Amino acid sequence: MKRKIKFLDLGAVNEPLMEQLVEAASGVVRSGWYINGENVKALEQELAQYCSTECAVAVSNGLDALRLIIRAYIELGAMQPGDEVIVPANTYIATVLAVTDNGLVPVLVEPDLVTMNLDPSLIERYITKRTRAIMPVHLYGTPCWSSQINELAQRYGLKIIEDNAQAIGAQAAVAGLNGTRVTGSLGHAAGLSFYPTKNLGALGDAGAVTTNDKELASVVRALANYGSDYRYHNVYCGLNCRMDEIQAAMLRVKLKHVDEENLRRANMAATYDTFINNPQVVKPAILPGCKQVWHQYVLRVEERGTFRAYLAENGIETDVLYPTPPHLQPCYIAQYGGASLPRTLALAGSVVSLPISVNVKEDEIQYICEIINKFHLK
Ligand SMILES: *Cc1c(COP(=O)(O)O)cnc(C)c1O
Repeated sequence: MKRKIKFLDLGAVNEPLMEQLVEAASGVVRSGWYINGENVKALEQELAQYCSTECAVAVSNGLDALRLIIRAYIELGAMQPGDEVIVPANTYIATVLAVTDNGLVPVLVEPDLVTMNLDPSLIERYITKRTRAIMPVHLYGTPCWSSQINELAQRYGLKIIEDNAQAIGAQAAVAGLNGTRVTGSLGHAAGLSFYPTKNLGALGDAGAVTTNDKELASVVRALANYGSDYRYHNVYCGLNCRMDEIQAAMLRVKLKHVDEENLRRANMAATYDTFINNPQVVKPAILPGCKQVWHQYVLRVEERGTFRAYLAENGIETDVLYPTPPHLQPCYIAQYGGASLPRTLALAGSVVSLPISVNVKEDEIQYICEIINKFHLK
């Protein structure tokens, strides 16, 4: 029997919740209230509670969440155009776009090859008089955190802005705490994405800012609503970056299931980790003391093209996140293309994501492991 395992099938992912989603959507349609209504308000409370923060502001998407945080810090006088922000070189381009969109300068720092996240031990050498923030990205659902990041931020007076787009529900070990803390509450502010493919996916674009800083939250909220603090009163030259009621309603249904879905992903990752046993394939690290939420399960394979073609022949779809790092994209290459980032290039050239969405069955994961273990370069 020839198998066919899709990398991601969003219809199948949402199928178990279909009735609740349709009911919630029709509730919004019938309500006659489509922007800034009770679903957005309730979702903000539910997200703040879920992320253990004082505040959550629902916005239009993950990129806007990050750019609004930086813009709010500019309005508050904590940053200005020309200032520098430390970002991982190995990230999705939106992290970097949020910086340059505000006229700040991204300073690209290499990843740790084990975590694939920003290497905290390299940060300090990139700090200058103009550095204002560090942006850890919890890439693939693996928390990027260490006491070093916190200490550097305190010593140099930097903001920590988490890119939490891929890691809702992840937890990092926090020094001094006898335990862990959820991503989105580790730094001064964090951006979430609810792009449909994310662990908590809307049925369209959506995002949120989480923070314990009430002043920052109120500036973000105003900026996302034309810069208006109250009706027809504009304190900032703002934007329109609001979340729709209908997306908030979808997210309220799905937020209730995100923990059980993250657990399913963790079980799939554990199965891959136990059964994949091929010296030509490097598995992602399962890190002690934290909770990874496996937005992606990312192998490293030197002969990636051959490997992916072999899996495809066996009915297994894979993906590559991301084949080209931000500094080599046409929009950035003139400015940043000259940077020497060998670890980032090594990852871009070898990473491959296996299916890990919640609708994939345990026996399909087993089958993928068997096929991978039979991969040998001729
Ligand atoms: C998805 C993503 C974003 C952007 O989120 P959108 O909602 O698509 O705008 C930002 N950073 C990372 C790491 C992402 O994966």
